[in-house]
Amino acid sequence: MLYDAVIIGGGPAGATSAYYLAKAGLNPLVIEQTQFPRYCVGESLLPYNMDIFREMKFDKILEEKGFMKKEGAVFGSSVSKEINRIDFSDGMEPEYSYAYQVPRDEFDNLLLEHVKAEGVEVLQGKVTEPVMDGQKVSGVKIRLSDKSERTIKSKVVVDASGRSSLLARKYNLLIPDPHIETFAVFGLFNNISWPKEAKNGDILILAFEHGWFWFIPFADGRISVGVVVDFKYYQRCRIEPLEDFFDLMIRNASGRVATLLKNASRDEPLHALQKFSRYAEKKSGPGWVSVGDAAMFVDPVFSAGVLVAMSTGRLVASITAEAISKNHELNAETYKPYEDALVSAYNTVLPFIYHFRSPSFQKLLFHPPKDGKLVKLVVTILSGCFFKPELTDQDSKRFWRIVRLIETKDKLVYFLKFHWLFDKFKI
Ligand SMILES: Cc1cc2nc3c(=O)[nH]c(=O)nc-3n(C[C@H](O)[C@H](O)[C@H](O)COP(=O)(O)OP(=O)(O)OC[C@H]3O[C@@H](n4cnc5c(N)ncnc54)[C@H](O)[C@@H]3O)c2cc1C
Repeated sequence: MLYDAVIIGGGPAGATSAYYLAKAGLNPLVIEQTQFPRYCVGESLLPYNMDIFREMKFDKILEEKGFMKKEGAVFGSSVSKEINRIDFSDGMEPEYSYAYQVPRDEFDNLLLEHVKAEGVEVLQGKVTEPVMDGQKVSGVKIRLSDKSERTIKSKVVVDASGRSSLLARKYNLLIPDPHIETFAVFGLFNNISWPKEAKNGDILILAFEHGWFWFIPFADGRISVGVVVDFKYYQRCRIEPLEDFFDLMIRNASGRVATLLKNASRDEPLHALQKFSRYAEKKSGPGWVSVGDAAMFVDPVFSAGVLVAMSTGRLVASITAEAISKNHELNAETYKPYEDALVSAYNTVLPFIYHFRSPSFQKLLFHPPKDGKLVKLVVTILSGCFFKPELTDQDSKRFWRIVRLIETKDKLVYFLKFHWLFDKFKI
């Protein structure tokens, strides 16, 4: 049998691609290697994801399950008094006022079950390699749980394999992000009393000298806590086991982080990931296209992963359906509008991600000026409007001019202070 699309992976990107392909009257097959529910990091969603949930009729399920509503985000320093809460309803489109905090094992399972209920076929098995027809990908080879092998043919293979990036890895297309190389340790905690600066349901991001901590509260009282540090710093102070490294980071961060975690307890082991910021140089080719993390993922500080995964899944499904209906080839040229949209989306959020490491930018984010327009811009971008560049393009230019000015001023002040000390003490 020839499928219209074989999708590698049943996470948010794969499930969404499959849903929209099936709605367009095509026959997609999702191949997922694990038995859901399975643990996955990435629990904080963004308001601009709600459109896709509504379209997929998944919003009611999220509401019924009683996931924690997320109406804002708190960004601050662990030690200084600078801390700032953004409320999503203060954005340029106030209707994007909330999202959810979701344990991903449950969320991904519900999404895949929903997609199955809407008519998508899902097969448990591990894709081992693509099947080639000359230069063109024409299907996949899979290994089933009983160790038997199967070949499945399709018009296109959608790689939604997450950080495995099966096809980009095979074609040697993965490029590490040139600015960010990090190490993250994370787990689920109990007994954390919520700080007064945050509303119930907010995500809390607290920066310290070597990185930042996230706190993501769930409806059942558990809180996902993680720390992200520079990879080189991790190598320098590497200590085993992971728990000891995590405790060291709490001591380093001190202040708010240490207070929040003072009485915290944990039922499950910690997890770790390293060097996960990278992108595929090409995100499509003859007979294949990659979506979600398989195509690109750069740093989790603004919780963009699931939104990008689902948005790219939806966009690729729509381009594929149109191309199949017109008997067009499925190749890089066909998927160019998708690649352009993904790059433009990341270009909206990447400057925020890169500047988050700069103390001047942190000051601005943790203690913003009372300029209503700038606050609206920041809230809109951090709510996830990445796929609507026209909304923020103009104000973004002004915003980044101000940031550069502040950074230059801070560098100048630092330089002058240094020279003053140099002169005074004849260093
Ligand atoms: C430290 C950290 C924190 C994060 N925090 C957030 C956050 O707060 N909010 C947010 O939105 N995002 C966050 N993310 C990102 C988020 O985890 C991902 O962007 C998101 O899960 C991507 O979805 P996906 O469907 O592309 O991939 P995944 O969710 O990874 O799904 C891929 C699926 O493919 C399957 N698969 C892989 N290889 C094969 C194979 N060979 N055969 C069959 N199946 C296969 C896997 O089993 C998996 O189920 C974070 C990421 C990191 C690293």
